[in-house]
Amino acid sequence: MKRLIFASRNAGKVVEVRRLLEPFGFVVQTMAEAGLDEDLPEEGCTFEANAESKASALRILLGQEDVWTLADDSGLVVDALDGAPGVYSARFSGYEGADARARDRANNAKLLKDLAQVEGVKRSARFVCCLVLLGPDVPLVLRGTCEGRILDAPRGEGGFGYDPLFLPEGFSRSMAELGLDEKNRISHRGQALARLVERLRDQKIVT
Ligand code: IMP
Repeated sequence: MKRLIFASRNAGKVVEVRRLLEPFGFVVQTMAEAGLDEDLPEEGCTFEANAESKASALRILLGQEDVWTLADDSGLVVDALDGAPGVYSARFSGYEGADARARDRANNAKLLKDLAQVEGVKRSARFVCCLVLLGPDVPLVLRGTCEGRILDAPRGEGGFGYDPLFLPEGFSRSMAELGLDEKNRISHRGQALARLVERLRDQKIVT
């Protein structure tokens, strides 16, 4: 068993990462489960820079060589908004409360408002995820993307964040209308995690 601490407080992401990594012998813990409640630095202007700073800050905090740390930085990139909200996806609406659902609703409302004059194929967007894994052997950096477009109104109750407004390419259901395994198969985080497992296999860290 390999102990891995995931640098996120986002319950939705934790569920997805657990489902994908536990079959490979990782025991995935949140920072809270590891007894940590510090805020990790997230001030970079790229997904990679943010994931790297979170993974290494967590590794320093833990101070345990044999424990793996994983950080994800992800967000929504909307073409008609010149790439916004991008690395500011979590903070897009300016809502500062602790209620994650209320924050998601506020972000989604702002996205719909900003795209009110944009129609059809011009509503193209993608989810992007960058993962950084730091472990006893290797730093690994992986990226995954999921193409789609922004709907005119929210649909579905699953997932989190912008999922109800995101129609993945080739699908007639929103990301929030897909089951967890179905989302993981196509999502930006699912893609990045699949690449991560591939690299871990190449390096004989998992079988
Ligand atoms: P982070 O925690 O700084 O990486 O913030 C990522 C933000 O991007 C989240 O709060 C969501 O608003 C959005 N996001 C990232 N991944 C997803 C996803 O899988 N579905 C919906 N929204 C996502």
